[in-house]
Amino acid sequence: MALSNPTRLISAPWVLPMAGPALADAAVVVDGADTIVAVGPRAEIKSAFPALPEERAQGALLPGLVNAHTHVELSVLAGRLRGGEGLVSWATQVGRETAAFSAEQRFDAARRAALAAVAAGTAAVGDVGNTLLAIPALAEAGLVGVFFHELLGSREAVTGDALAGAEREYREFVESSPWPARLARVPAPHALYSAGPDLLRRIFAAAAGTGHPTSIHIAEGEDEIQLLRDGSGRWAEILALLQVPAGSRTPGLGPLAYLESLGAFAGERPPLLVHMVCASAEDIALAHKHRAPVVLCPRSNLHIGGRLPDLRAFLSAGLALALGSDSLGSSPDLSLWGEMAALASHFPDIAPEIWLRAATVGGAAALGLAALGALVPGKRPGIMDVTPIDTQAPCASLVAAATPSVRWVARP
Ligand SMILES: [Zn+2]
Repeated sequence: MALSNPTRLISAPWVLPMAGPALADAAVVVDGADTIVAVGPRAEIKSAFPALPEERAQGALLPGLVNAHTHVELSVLAGRLRGGEGLVSWATQVGRETAAFSAEQRFDAARRAALAAVAAGTAAVGDVGNTLLAIPALAEAGLVGVFFHELLGSREAVTGDALAGAEREYREFVESSPWPARLARVPAPHALYSAGPDLLRRIFAAAAGTGHPTSIHIAEGEDEIQLLRDGSGRWAEILALLQVPAGSRTPGLGPLAYLESLGAFAGERPPLLVHMVCASAEDIALAHKHRAPVVLCPRSNLHIGGRLPDLRAFLSAGLALALGSDSLGSSPDLSLWGEMAALASHFPDIAPEIWLRAATVGGAAALGLAALGALVPGKRPGIMDVTPIDTQAPCASLVAAATPSVRWVARP
């Protein structure tokens, strides 16, 4: 790979490349576009690049974090939604509460949330939007990644063709926006219960041509499992109120088996499986078979339903993991440090490197962002200096920190 001229050498007590072991007393060299040129022991790097002055970082150098699941458009709901009663109760509050705010208030909240996410070390997002409200906020904050344009069955009912309607809406929006679209747009379903099988199939087929994966909330609560299996549970009651034909969301299958039957795994990139709180052994086996990454949103899961997925089962099955914050409607902030701290405190026996990898290289791989997630020559992941660290146990101290101090050395 041809690399351009090295321009900066940054050394630190620790460098965590995330694509290999942590390096004590190490350094990173970048070129003028902040593309990584070299990573290695400080003495070796200094002798290989003698003309470069040494910049000194105080803590650990890491690639920027990749928040693989958030909803920046819902930021105005911060602290407003009651949790602890399960997803159906939580979700029914979303529409009612959002309607109390003007578009301007919702955009201001989205903008503040996006800037706070960057300040906490976020380089890229997988952002889900039912509207396009968050796109300028994300662009203004300098966030890259994937925008999952969420298509509900109700959009299909209004427009006759949810995919074509959403595509038109997006094109008009981008043409009239002063912001360059820095995120790839991919059509996405919300969940298996919020669209019928025909629309779900068409969304998966359309997403397969984008070069990025799509994303779906799946196995998030027991009501979803019951609806899919036999048409019972609280989602069935909600769908009846919405006059959705009974049976149209009940394939008699588990969530991953249904997803497979819809052609979700036919494309080059498997969809992101968000939550998987109620995943069965069959679901885990199918996720593994199709190499589909699971996006964990632990603080949101704890707020809404008071339980976490079976992470030990995911790890022993070898599932690929990424982390997300979900929205401010179910999480106190959009920082992955808080998610890592929650996981570390619930699973103290699991190596902290696993959560750091999920928050960086795991998220980048899940979203198909080849240049991000690791300090590796040729990538341009953004570099941050994170403090404080325990120099004897840098990964454990970072993962437990919850709100460490982040200084950007280079933005992606
Ligand atoms: Zn979500």
